[in-house]
Amino acid sequence: MSACLFCAIAAGEVAADRVHEDDEVVAFRDINPQAPTHILVIPREHLVSVAELTTEHDGLWARMLHVVQQLARNEGLEGNGFRVVANSGADGGQTVAHLHLHLLGGRSMTWPPG
Ligand code: AMP
Ligand code: ZN
Repeated sequence: MSACLFCAIAAGEVAADRVHEDDEVVAFRDINPQAPTHILVIPREHLVSVAELTTEHDGLWARMLHVVQQLARNEGLEGNGFRVVANSGADGGQTVAHLHLHLLGGRSMTWPPG
């Protein structure tokens, strides 16, 4: 069993409500949704956060965003819009140390975030 929760989800060792998977990226519904649609998009590769990305990950990062875009379409969010969030580190409010994008939609968001 992987020590990292999201590595374990990517490997299928921990159950999740998956909505997308390919050779590089997995997406699943957040266990504690903050909006009607709340999906997490993760790379299979263990990267801690945006802070670890290098130019070698440009293709992976673009793939993650394209998966977000496709899921937003699938969830019917294109018309009203949606929010994409990557919390990074302690001040960013990151609680799981495996890179992930939050796709949030289905309600009006406020700004600034807490
Ligand atoms: P962050 O706070 O940005 O690191 O986001 C981590 C997210 O992972 C939170 O929104 C949690 O609700 C979510 N989460 C934690 N454990 C699980 C799990 N087993 N399955 C799905 N989502 C999870
Ligand atoms: Zn991991």
